[in-house]
Amino acid sequence: MKLAERVASLPTTPGVYLFKSARGRVLYVGKAQNLRQRVRSYLSPGADGRLRMPKLMERAADVEVVVTGGVKDALLLENELIKQHKPPFNVRLRDDKQYLALRLDPGERWPRLTQVRKFARDGAWYFGPYTSSSSMRDAVSNLRRIFPLRSCSDAVFRDYARRGRPCIEFEMDRCLGPCCDRIDEPGYAELVEGTALFLRGRSDQLREDLEARMQQAARDERFEDAARLRDRLGAVERTVERQRIVAERPVDRDVFGLARDGGELEIQALFVRDGRVVGNAGYGFSEVALDDGSVLESFLSQFYGSGDRHAVPDEILTSAPIDGEQGLGALLSDRASRRVPLRAPKRGDPRKLVEMATSNAEVGLARRLMARESLAAAHEELRERLGLAVLPTRIECYDVSTLHGTFSVASRVAFEDGVPVKSDYRSYRIHDTAGGDDYGCLREVIRRRLARVAAEPLPDLLMVDGGKGQLGVVLACLADADLRVETVGIAKERDPGSPSPRVRRGGGLKAERLFRPNRKDAIALPASSRGLLLLQRVRDESHRFAIDYQRSLRRRLGLTSILEALPGIGPGKRRALLRTLGSLAAVRRADEAQLAAVPGISARDAATIGRFFATAAREAAQAGPEPAGEPRGGGPDPADEPQRGGKPSA
Ligand code: SF4
Repeated sequence: MKLAERVASLPTTPGVYLFKSARGRVLYVGKAQNLRQRVRSYLSPGADGRLRMPKLMERAADVEVVVTGGVKDALLLENELIKQHKPPFNVRLRDDKQYLALRLDPGERWPRLTQVRKFARDGAWYFGPYTSSSSMRDAVSNLRRIFPLRSCSDAVFRDYARRGRPCIEFEMDRCLGPCCDRIDEPGYAELVEGTALFLRGRSDQLREDLEARMQQAARDERFEDAARLRDRLGAVERTVERQRIVAERPVDRDVFGLARDGGELEIQALFVRDGRVVGNAGYGFSEVALDDGSVLESFLSQFYGSGDRHAVPDEILTSAPIDGEQGLGALLSDRASRRVPLRAPKRGDPRKLVEMATSNAEVGLARRLMARESLAAAHEELRERLGLAVLPTRIECYDVSTLHGTFSVASRVAFEDGVPVKSDYRSYRIHDTAGGDDYGCLREVIRRRLARVAAEPLPDLLMVDGGKGQLGVVLACLADADLRVETVGIAKERDPGSPSPRVRRGGGLKAERLFRPNRKDAIALPASSRGLLLLQRVRDESHRFAIDYQRSLRRRLGLTSILEALPGIGPGKRRALLRTLGSLAAVRRADEAQLAAVPGISARDAATIGRFFATAAREAAQAGPEPAGEPRGGGPDPADEPQRGGKPSA
């Protein structure tokens, strides 16, 4: 049946429609109050004589509908179907931003702030969202100076309670030592309340409260308490002054501004909490044929509709009126269990906020268009200089990491259109290859990757951190599997006589060389080459990811396993080390002379152990502090033990 004939038979009830290509691919999913009327609007030109989404209609061969109980249900189903089919004509929010929030559970006896990524309905208080972990860390560190809540886990808390002395946080005035009854419950509850007021932006109430308590303390001649409260009040005032007030009314609002250039579109979100902007985030879309109202409707229903990633604020402001506002409003009000107004304001503070979001969207769009031009140039340069058959829009890179022949691991990172796709990252633990055999480790990893080619198609360019030798390993694996893909090796120029290619010469980084199959000489691109910069970025990310994985592995396995993994340190030597030095921690802290003094430990063993722990400590220092709470992104290779998966960042 032709599309036009199908339309006549469609119901006039609310529901979801799916336009499909002649081959059955879902091209577009939409929802409607009246299915027949809506689908017909695609087939007949509008008042301006133009067809609605003409490119879609060129390809659409059929339409399917699903009737729902109402528009709200249709919105939910539309979201699900967009997620499931990834239709090319829909605005698809890759729900990939990992928003952070702070959680404080007043139901605990000694509440503490924890970093979370979900807003659950569990009776705890949630503050945020924070769009970067650094902004969250700043907030927490400011806060802990004013309201020193405990920072330890429950297990550590119990441990120090058992020992009867508080940890170093107490010595540093960053905790008041509830583990050892150095503060009573009412005193601690005041800190919790202050923290919550501060994070909710109720600074006036907080100031009044602190002032009243300070004066009371002075009247009661508790001068130390009064001085402490005075300092706390001063710190609150200094911190609050730095935050920008953007609205008179202290409400929580999410504000969305939209900018477009043809089919290129940018949405910028501003998160306003109690009248203060606490964060922002940008979302880019390409080849969008929908009008602004429909884009915003689809975007917002995906933004809030799926899961508990985004808390629904008191109010949502947008730069254009939303198509189907009632259905979306009902959906959000359901989620929040209160009425959530959705509006495109015309004046006052709300209008200013929308203008701010729109200007940010314009800047984001301009930046993205420029970056796209530069990315297109990088891809083209690589295609030309490396002689690739296709543009390398999707690149995978592999890196093997080993620590003095132990804890061999490897990483895979994937970049699409110059953006890391973190959900496609993989970490590999090397099982079958002896430590120190770099080529063997790489062979094992590439084989494991190629074995999954049916589930995970090969990229446009497969890159390996290494020179001719590593590239040769990849090529041999591909030949064994009878697979073909463009490949490249990237390595720093080697100093004559240096065993390692990662050596600095004259204090500066050495030139990079690219290696291609069937090419005797390495390719040297200028240091400013866009193509080279892209490959370096991918390689550096792969390196970072491998090191992160290795660190987390060492942390999980603990010191005992680390000692067991060290080459040449058998059970007898391990026992001698522990007996003489007293503990595993002492072994780690010992210098080479102390290690060599242990009976049975040679100077060489001492050097091995010393070097291992020194490198591990150096890496830990370079990588900075461990992230609090959630681990880094990236999924494990299916053969590995499960880790938390990450998501791509837009
Ligand atoms: S002093 Fe006690 S309660 Fe405070 S952080 Fe340390 S262990 Fe936790």
